[in-house]
Amino acid sequence: MTVEREKLEADVLIVGAGPAGLACALHLARLMRRHNESGAKPELSPENIYVLEKARELGAHQLSGAVMDPRGLAELVPDFATTAPLDTPVTGDAAYFLTAGRAWKLPVTPPPLRNHGNYVISLNKMAKWLGGLVEQTGVNVFTQFAGAQLIYEGDGIAGVITEDKGRDKDGRPKDNFTPGYELRAKVTVLAEGPRGSLTKDLVARKKLDGLNPQVYSIGVKELWEVPAGRIAPGWVAHTLGWPLDSSMYGGGWIYGLQENRVSLGLVTGLEYHNPRFDPHEAFQLYKTHPFVRRILQGGKLVRYGAKTVPTGGWYSMPRTFVDGGLIVGDSASFLNSQRLKGIHMAIKTGMLAAETAFEALSAGDSSVKTLAAFPRKVEQSWVARELRSVRNFHQSFQHGLWRGLAHAAVQFVTGGRGLVDPMRMRAGYKEYRKLDGAGPAPPRFQGDGVLTFDRLTDVYHSGTRHEEDQPNHLLVADLDICVGRCVTEYGNPCQYFCPAAVYEMAEEKGVRRLKINASNCVHCKTCDVADPYQIITWVPPEGGGGPNYEGM
Ligand SMILES: Cc1cc2nc3c(=O)[nH]c(=O)nc-3n(C[C@H](O)[C@H](O)[C@H](O)COP(=O)(O)OP(=O)(O)OC[C@H]3O[C@@H](n4cnc5c(N)ncnc54)[C@H](O)[C@@H]3O)c2cc1C
Repeated sequence: MTVEREKLEADVLIVGAGPAGLACALHLARLMRRHNESGAKPELSPENIYVLEKARELGAHQLSGAVMDPRGLAELVPDFATTAPLDTPVTGDAAYFLTAGRAWKLPVTPPPLRNHGNYVISLNKMAKWLGGLVEQTGVNVFTQFAGAQLIYEGDGIAGVITEDKGRDKDGRPKDNFTPGYELRAKVTVLAEGPRGSLTKDLVARKKLDGLNPQVYSIGVKELWEVPAGRIAPGWVAHTLGWPLDSSMYGGGWIYGLQENRVSLGLVTGLEYHNPRFDPHEAFQLYKTHPFVRRILQGGKLVRYGAKTVPTGGWYSMPRTFVDGGLIVGDSASFLNSQRLKGIHMAIKTGMLAAETAFEALSAGDSSVKTLAAFPRKVEQSWVARELRSVRNFHQSFQHGLWRGLAHAAVQFVTGGRGLVDPMRMRAGYKEYRKLDGAGPAPPRFQGDGVLTFDRLTDVYHSGTRHEEDQPNHLLVADLDICVGRCVTEYGNPCQYFCPAAVYEMAEEKGVRRLKINASNCVHCKTCDVADPYQIITWVPPEGGGGPNYEGM
């Protein structure tokens, strides 16, 4: 069926209203205002900047730790210290190595984990606040709209088509059917966060991958309210070790917020070997450690969420510009995985993209000739200096924790070079070991309902909602693989790596099939990253669907 689409033209279209997209919009609107005030021509209008966000409201899909390095925000909003919704400054930090029963405090906190001068924040609140500043400038922010497809033109891109609304589960238009818009723009900025669906398509089509493929971790997080006195606001702890074994990359965090709230979570590199490893279950076990339990006991779960983190770093960055398009923030792997910090870089790269787009509009040229200035601006900024200093960090852990730490120490004293530079790495899904006759799968984790929870209870606490009668947004290219090869080779890891119980192997009348509970999806994108056959494609569901990370 051909669909008649309404066409809209923008100067700059920004896909994604996270810190990167919002910083880009705000900085660009201000550059335009200054340009107009100086009497320069052509006159530019912030109303011709469009921002698309798939969440039902700004911030609803923002999930982060979050300890923010204020460097980026200070450049974007110089008076942020008195105006931004900062929960608390960091008041103390510590690092621990956990074994099954004990927590060993490191005598000194390693420099990358020192957080003096940083702030504990809710990224959900920060995005709402930044979004308000953006709207005040006249920029058009459209929530509940997802960029569904890129418009490819020539060697580059010329905008996006937003998702159709009001189709039933078989794709047929319902009474409320509204076709997606064709949004054309001189410059399209992809700020979709980790594993952006449009970015993935663009990187593959235009072969933009960097030296290493983009690699990811999964972060599983809960927000708790605990009895008074358990944790000081601004106290920040990082842990290594248990429940992850020494072959795995990752660690835990515990951050104290105001009003006796605690943010805690576990990040696991999505290059682990055991296909039955379950990141959600590992996080639940983490909470049972005496060190963590002591903080949470008697408290209550407030919110749950999960999201991927692009941990590949400098050598995993794709090329960030094409004719008519730029890639910023997590979508381009601008994240320091050693510090687990990307907010400051998302903001800064959003600003640098704004400056590049502004130059393109002023020159009337949005080809690569102008947009190639973006990586040059990154090169000249602190973003490149910070990322280069940890350019081999994540790769060092591919042979386990101890070798990783040894490499990291050498990299620290050699400014990131280490013993091998560049250090290569494969995509994480290639690291699974085949089951090869491993016994039956252990029973699934249930939780005690007080300290630990099963996945469905946690999904309930993520506030996730989707229109039920819509096409499935988790596209599996070959279901025969799921019920055939994958059963014997890997035991269907999708049942384990999905932190929202979306994938289930069901048996009906003796026939095995993959059941997809798409309405549980928390938009973490782990399935798209971690499927061993790379046959799962995450596409945005109808705009407005997904989690509601209020206060996260
Ligand atoms: C568990 C976890 C802990 C973290 N802890 C920290 C920390 O303590 N400190 C720190 O600095 N960083 C931390 N980070 C990283 C930090 O959150 C990111 O680096 C940062 O949020 C990246 O910003 P972004 O704008 O690039 O992407 P995001 O914040 O992911 O924003 C992207 C936005 O785009 C929207 N979107 C995506 N696709 C589309 C589409 N097709 N159409 C419309 N909208 C779309 C999404 O809904 C989302 O709102 C953490 C991340 C995780 C997952």
